[in-house]
Amino acid sequence: IVVLGIETSCDETAAAVVRDGKEILSNVVASQIESHRRFGGVVPELASRHHVEQITIVIEEAMKQAAVTFEDIDAVAVTEGPGLVGALLVGVNAAKALAFSRNIPLVGVHHIAGHIYANRLITDFTFPLLSLVVSGGHTELVYMEKHGSFKVIGETRDDAAGEAYDKVARTLNLPYPGGPHIDRLAQEGTATIDLPRAWLEEDSYDFSFSGLKSAVINTLHNAEQRGEKISPENLAASFQASVVEVLTEKTIRAAKELGVKQVLLAGGVAANKGLRKSLESAFERIEHVDLVIPPLYLCTDNAAMIAAAGTVLFEVGIRGALDMNAHPGLDIEK
Ligand code: ATP
Ligand code: MG
Ligand code: FE
Repeated sequence: IVVLGIETSCDETAAAVVRDGKEILSNVVASQIESHRRFGGVVPELASRHHVEQITIVIEEAMKQAAVTFEDIDAVAVTEGPGLVGALLVGVNAAKALAFSRNIPLVGVHHIAGHIYANRLITDFTFPLLSLVVSGGHTELVYMEKHGSFKVIGETRDDAAGEAYDKVARTLNLPYPGGPHIDRLAQEGTATIDLPRAWLEEDSYDFSFSGLKSAVINTLHNAEQRGEKISPENLAASFQASVVEVLTEKTIRAAKELGVKQVLLAGGVAANKGLRKSLESAFERIEHVDLVIPPLYLCTDNAAMIAAAGTVLFEVGIRGALDMNAHPGLDIEK
């Protein structure tokens, strides 16, 4: 089965061709980061316009690099949501146009299911499994008993991890997106500043990062008022230590309590060096649990992950209708 994946939920215009949900034949990503950077974040209207300009070029490039024609494509998988409505609509309409004109089945994919299925491009899934999803808009622990079944056992009550990274970066005057910059600074510093850890209720798998973000901002302001200078490296290291410790601890506890066989890391923040290292060393000590960490190019938004998730849905007979709409608040459990 050969699936063309299309992803336009945020600020990456992406298309990819994947064979059997596992083998990447092409994976083209046109990033708009440069255009949004001077505004310090993604500007929805600008994102939609860029997607419109790029989508045809990106799809053609993905087809060309994979050396396939539309006759070879068994299904078109597209991100239906969640994301920016105007951005999603560009991908959804491109996919519908292809499906209709070439008579190819259409499959709608949840963006976060895509992030999780990025892992299937490097390994087979062993159920039951747990996925730690950490991205720009989501932070959640997702339990999976079988393909296509998602149960959110914990999620952020305020900011997503990536959002907290980007906001902290902004207060340190680092360019957007700030996650990779904080990560780099953190490697150069030491976690010397005492910052809170949001454990919440003892049995909760939920997360909270807004208190931590405020603590970082207060630390900077207080130091400024006293005329002291805070080392940005140490502040970044301290912030990262708090985020990574909570994410690691809750993932370990959930993995043990649910008795999962595999733990998958997913989402843009999965690229974080501190998080990858912390999970690797924590799971080294836990037998019978296989930790999977995707390569960097599969962590942030791409269409190979959408094709991978779409293939599984296609195989169980799920088809999208030609009146498919974009769903900015799509629920992964449904
Ligand atoms: P969502 O997937 O929730 O809809 P999104 O698609 O915008 O949101 P992703 O593309 O998955 O998010 O991830 C982008 C986020 O990942 C940004 O917040 C970015 O700062 C963060 N990020 C990327 N690399 C790193 C890193 N090395 N350390 C920390 N954060 C990172
Ligand atoms: Mg992005
Ligand atoms: Fe994403």
